[in-house]
Amino acid sequence: MQELTHYIGGEHVKGTSGRFADVMNPATGEVQAKVPLASADELDKAVQIAAEAQPAWAATNPQRRARVLMKFVDLLNRDMDKLAEALSREHGKTLPDAAGDVQRGLEVVEYCIGAPQMLKGEYTDNAGPGIDMYSMRQALGVTAGITPFNFPAMIPMWMFAPAIACGNAFILKPSERDPSVPLMLAELMEEAGLPKGILQVVNGDKEAVDAILYHDVIQSIGFVGSTPIAEYIYGTGCSQGKRVQCFGGAKNHMIVMPDADMDQAADALIGAGYGAAGERCMAISVAVPVGDETADRLIEKLVPRIEKLKVGPYTAGADVDYGPVVTAAAKENILRLVQTGVDQGAKLVVDGRDFSLQGYEDGYFVGAHLFDNVTKDMDIYKTEIFGPVLSTVRAKTYEEALSLAMDHEYGNGTAIFTRDGDTARDFANRINIGMVGINVPIPVPLAYHTFGGWKKSVFGDLNQHGPDAFKFYTRTKTVTSRWPSGLKEGGEFHFKPMD
Ligand code: NAD
Repeated sequence: MQELTHYIGGEHVKGTSGRFADVMNPATGEVQAKVPLASADELDKAVQIAAEAQPAWAATNPQRRARVLMKFVDLLNRDMDKLAEALSREHGKTLPDAAGDVQRGLEVVEYCIGAPQMLKGEYTDNAGPGIDMYSMRQALGVTAGITPFNFPAMIPMWMFAPAIACGNAFILKPSERDPSVPLMLAELMEEAGLPKGILQVVNGDKEAVDAILYHDVIQSIGFVGSTPIAEYIYGTGCSQGKRVQCFGGAKNHMIVMPDADMDQAADALIGAGYGAAGERCMAISVAVPVGDETADRLIEKLVPRIEKLKVGPYTAGADVDYGPVVTAAAKENILRLVQTGVDQGAKLVVDGRDFSLQGYEDGYFVGAHLFDNVTKDMDIYKTEIFGPVLSTVRAKTYEEALSLAMDHEYGNGTAIFTRDGDTARDFANRINIGMVGINVPIPVPLAYHTFGGWKKSVFGDLNQHGPDAFKFYTRTKTVTSRWPSGLKEGGEFHFKPMD
């Protein structure tokens, strides 16, 4: 069986803690590799190497640093198929989806090639008599990131590309469920010319995360994952004096107004609700049709589309709509929640509970589910299911639909489908959610905008990528200077300032 490694100091390093986790093939339910779970000592070794390498990297001019990222983009394109295949094998998503995962990370790398422009400081001459003042953005030092299983290429790149472009060293603790692609990315960064020790991968679980949280040298932590862990990491990291940003879970609502193009809305819900088996933080998990007539029309259009969805392993070809979920535990949890929905009185319009795929009976495939008549008090409404389960909550009016989304504890993404500009504008202005789509079901901002939710979907002030990333990964220093040559002999100014 393949034994995966850490990537420390530019080398593949075997784990020494004696602890390992199984890396599964979710399509077959077989163990395909084991990944080492780092001890605090192994993490410390990576931190020492990073701390030694970082000053020279920070002193390298930003354009040269950016050239490494430029070359990295070429290598990502060269190895796209290889990366997508490795990603699908461990995560289970389809190959086009896996390539999209790499691509959305790559776009942030491209954006970070603009680091020299983003890192330019500010300058005021004659801030006082003979006094100049300038502000510069300096790297933090050793930074770290903890990432989830569902985007094992994109989210690490969202973190390490800006961190490294700003002159930091970065230690990545990827998800133990799909660690191969992060290791491949670290190798490619080095092939692109990154000095050893600037990007390292330390695999692990809570023990490695705690070692990061309590390590004195680590200056900042980026986290993406579920809300309870986000809350823990934010609280602990801040109490240790670190700069922390944490992005958590979601329950994204899509409001469908009576005037919406119902075919377009149904198509959008299929992609956004069931794509990637619903394992996206921007997946739509709640449809909110306004009015019973809209709800009936929507459900009527959704059912045949859902029944046509093709579920299968990534190896089955391009017409597979979604693959297995990531673990047996995830599958069990999804089916348990579906059962609570039935028990609590929701109407299961499409029942995927008995789904089984011939030849892949041990894989973690979950059939598509559609609920109608879901209410606010039900577990399937309150909880992030993270599976192919779409709940329909019927609202009588637009105001009721709006307050439903506003009252939910999560605030990552949302969408409204309507032809009415007034309603769309009102929705975009009033909703207390970070990313809003108007006739766009998954409104993920592009690399040069920022990504982040509100409410319990985020802990911290700055968003991911876009200009915020350059703020998160740097500190501002402001210098005030006066030079003796600005004065004539005897303390008089060359130019007398105005009173
Ligand atoms: P997770 O919270 O289980 O794991 C995320 C990371 O935290 C992993 O690296 C894991 O090893 C580590 N971890 C897990 N348990 C820990 C513990 N007790 N102490 C310390 N560290 C721990 O999340 P996941 O299942 O990998 O990912 C799915 C979740 O991520 C969903 O809730 C999804 O909504 C969320 N997500 C959010 C965003 C966003 O931008 N808001 C993006 C992607 C995923």
